Amino acid sequence: MGSMHTGFESRPDGVERLAAFYAERARGGAALIVTGGFSPNDAGNLGPHRAQFSTAEDRERHRPIPAAVHAEGGRIALQLLHSGRYGFHDRIVAPSPLKAPINAHVPRELSAAEIEQTIDDFARAATLAREAGYDGVEIMGSEGYLVSQFLAGRTNRRADEWGGPLANRMRFPAEIVRRTRAATGPDFLIVYRISALELVEGGLSGEETAALACAVEAAGATLLNTGIGWHEARIPTIAQAVPRGAFAWATRRLKQAVRIPVIASNRINAPELAEEIVARGDADLVSLARAMLSDPQFAAKARSGDRAGINVCIACNQACLDHYFIGEPVSCVVNPRAGRETKLFFARATTRKRIAVIGGGPAGLACAANAAERGHAVTLYEKAAGLGGQFNLAKRVPGKQEFGESIAYYEERLKRAGVEVLLNQAPQPSDLEAFDETVIATGIAPRLPAIAGVGHSKVVSYVDVLAGRASVGREVVILGMGGIGFDVALYLLERDGRAPLEPAAFEAHWGITRDPKAPGGLAPGGIPALAPGLRLTMMKRSATPFGHTLGRTTGWVHRAELARHGVRMMKSVEYLKIDDAGVHVRLEGNALVVPADTVVLCTGQLPHRPLEGRHVIGGAREAGELDAKRAMLEGAQLAARL
Ligand code: SF4
Repeated sequence: MGSMHTGFESRPDGVERLAAFYAERARGGAALIVTGGFSPNDAGNLGPHRAQFSTAEDRERHRPIPAAVHAEGGRIALQLLHSGRYGFHDRIVAPSPLKAPINAHVPRELSAAEIEQTIDDFARAATLAREAGYDGVEIMGSEGYLVSQFLAGRTNRRADEWGGPLANRMRFPAEIVRRTRAATGPDFLIVYRISALELVEGGLSGEETAALACAVEAAGATLLNTGIGWHEARIPTIAQAVPRGAFAWATRRLKQAVRIPVIASNRINAPELAEEIVARGDADLVSLARAMLSDPQFAAKARSGDRAGINVCIACNQACLDHYFIGEPVSCVVNPRAGRETKLFFARATTRKRIAVIGGGPAGLACAANAAERGHAVTLYEKAAGLGGQFNLAKRVPGKQEFGESIAYYEERLKRAGVEVLLNQAPQPSDLEAFDETVIATGIAPRLPAIAGVGHSKVVSYVDVLAGRASVGREVVILGMGGIGFDVALYLLERDGRAPLEPAAFEAHWGITRDPKAPGGLAPGGIPALAPGLRLTMMKRSATPFGHTLGRTTGWVHRAELARHGVRMMKSVEYLKIDDAGVHVRLEGNALVVPADTVVLCTGQLPHRPLEGRHVIGGAREAGELDAKRAMLEGAQLAARL
C-alpha cells in the first residue's frame, strides 16, 4: 500500500485513527504499508500544522501504529517527506530561493551547514522510526518535494558541491540514504521513492533518473518505489484522464538499471492490471494507495480470485486528495468507511427489519448493501431498467468510465447480501405499508431555468445529452458551469472518439515522450494544440471563477482540456431569451447574441421526491451538485443506524 497523506498525521487523535486505518488494510492483505508523509524537521512540514517525526515524543506517540499493523500480520514503513518549497507555511527552505508556481510562499535558500543538518535529520528520524517499531522508512524523493528540488536544474541553481553537475545534485539523496543506512543498520527497510518521470521542464531525463537509481542503490536502499510527475506538472498523473497503468513503462526503465526490487505505482486499481505489470517485467512489486482506500481487502480478494468483490477506485479524488488539500481527513466516495474506521461501524442488527429502499442510485445502493449485510431484509426499488442512477450518466463522460466499476461492484454486493432488487418499479405508498422502514433515495431532477424560449426545440437537458438521446449540432452553448457543465463540454468535445484512453494516445495528447534523453520526459514541442471539432461556449450567471466548484486536484485538468479545445467561457451573464438565432444575453451592460444550433441546460438540480418517507437521503434530501460522495455517505450512515 503506497503512501497517501490522510490528514490524520497532524490531528490530535491522529495516531489512534491511523492505527485503525492501517490495521484494517493489513488485515485485508496489504504486505507492506507506507504511511503518509512525516517531516524529519520543522522546515519540512507540508502544512501549517505539525506532521513531523523527529523527537523521542514522536517515537512514543507512534508506537500504536506499527503495533496495530504487526498484530494483523502486516509490515509498515514510515514515509519521511521534506516538503521543501512545497510547504504551505512561512518557514520553508529549498536549495535555491525559487518560488514554486503552486505556492505563494517563497523558500529561503539552505546554507551548506543546514543541508548537512537536514540529511542528519532524515537519518535521526529513521532511527526513531525503527525504535518506534516501524519496519522501515520511505525517503520521499519524488513529486517535486525537497529531494526532487535538489536533483533538478529547474530548482537547484547552487554553485557549491550540492549544485551544478548531476553528480553534485545527486549528492543530497545519496547522502540521505547512506547516512540512514549507517544509522539504522543492515536489516532495516529503506525504500527510496524515485521520480520515474518528472513531467516538468528542466526535470531529470530518463538516463539521469537511471543514474540516480544506481546511486541510491549503491548508498544502501532496499527497494525502489516510483512516483510520477511533480505536483506543479501540468500533465495529469493520477486523475481519471490517465489510463490505467499508464506509466509502468517508466518503471521498467528503472528496473533494468538496478538489482534491487522496483515498485510500480499510479493508476493501478485492478488485480489483473497489477498482475500484467509484474508478469511483463515492468516491476517486481506494485503499490496501490487509493485502491486500498476504496477497498481495504483488495489484496486478500485479489489473492483469492474474487475480482467481482473488489470495490475499485474510480480515480475521482473527490474524497481523498481533494479532502486533504482543503484540510479534511481523507475518505472515499465509494467506501465511506475509509478514514472513519473508529467512527462508522456496521454491527449485526439485533432485530431483523423489513426495509424498503426506493432508488438504486449511489445513496440507495450504499444504504441497501450495508443494511442487508447487517442482517436486515432489504428490498430495493428502481424505476429504471438498471441500477446506478446518476453514475450511469457519469460513466459516459470521457475518462469517467470507471464509474461503471462501482455500479458492477454494488450490484454484486447486493446479490451477495440477498437484497431483493426490483427494477422498472416505482412503488406506490400502499406497496410500502408492509415494511418496517422506508428509505427515500429517489435522487434529483434537472432544474429548468426561467428563461424566455427555454421550450425551444434546440434546448436540451444534460441528461438527454449524456444519455445519447439528444441530437447536438456543431455550434453549442452550455448554460451553467458547475461540474455537470464541464462534464457535458468534455463529453461533446471528445464524443468522436478523441479521448486519449490508451497509454500511447495519452502520451501523444499530453506531449510525453519515452526518449530517455528528453529532460522531464517532455516532447520537444510541449503539449500539442488540438484542432477544434466543435464551436462551444459555456456561460453562467454568477461572477465566481470558472470551474471553482471542480475538485482541487482535478479541476485544472478539465480547465486545461477545455482551453486547448478553444472553448469560450462567459460569466456574470444575464440570460434574456433563446430563439432561432441562439442565446440572447446581457454582458457588462451590452446585449449580444451567441449563435447556437443546440443549447444544453446544466442549470442545477432539484430534489426528486415522488414519495415521502421517514428517511430521506442523497439528492432526494438535498440536490446540490451531483454529489455522489455525500449520497453514499448518507446511505452508509443511515444503514449503520437502522
Ligand atoms: Fe479512489 Fe475516488 Fe475513493 Fe479517492 S475517493 S480512493 S479516487 S474512489
